[in-house]
Amino acid sequence: MSAEDARKIRLIMELRRNGVADTRVLSAIERVPRELFVPRTFDDQAYDNTALPIGCGQTISQPTVVGMMSQALNPGDRMKVLEIGTGSGYQTAILAQLCRRVYTIERHRDLLRDAEQRLLALGCSNVTAKVGDGTKGWPEQAPFDRILVTAAATEMPEALMQQLAVGGIMVLPLGPRPENQHVVRVTRTEDGFQTETLWAVRFVPLISGMPEETGKTR
Ligand code: SAH
Repeated sequence: MSAEDARKIRLIMELRRNGVADTRVLSAIERVPRELFVPRTFDDQAYDNTALPIGCGQTISQPTVVGMMSQALNPGDRMKVLEIGTGSGYQTAILAQLCRRVYTIERHRDLLRDAEQRLLALGCSNVTAKVGDGTKGWPEQAPFDRILVTAAATEMPEALMQQLAVGGIMVLPLGPRPENQHVVRVTRTEDGFQTETLWAVRFVPLISGMPEETGKTR
């Protein structure tokens, strides 16, 4: 067994201890090579259970958080999913293993370009990605069976709720301040929305609007 396989197995065991029990989610995490989604300098930490910087002041989420959020979303293999905050594309690749089709939106053009290249290299052909302000959702593709937001909103994103199918589920970090955020699960029913508060987290903020283009191409 390679050192990398051993690190991967250790991570999966840690995720199980931390409450990730869904076998589809665990095997998706086992299949997706996280080392492709972290900058080269962090190669040796790719299977550590930590968030890591990915540029543009953003981070790839901690594996436990990816596992727990994917599990809370309860995705099915025939579902159409919207993800807000592509970042490195790691969570997107996990969703691509679990669902029929994934639509993902990222506000940083550079991050999206790199994420798209990685997803292409991995052969994730069921992902459609675009640069944009995810708080507006993707109305042309709505409704969605599932919506996963991977940046913290300070208030419930109305447009995203409206793009949820009846019976659909949205999982998002929500909270007024970084030190007071919780993962929240919203279920759309025939007559409204049910909201459950799941556990405390700390995410980078969901920011409305687009970043200023600096003109650099990197
Ligand atoms: N899921 C990512 C983690 C991303 S961190 C991964 O697995 O790597 C959150 C991401 O959300 C950042 O890349 C940030 O730029 C993006 N983001 C924040 N506000 C956004 C918005 N309004 N629309 C789209 N993306 C947004």
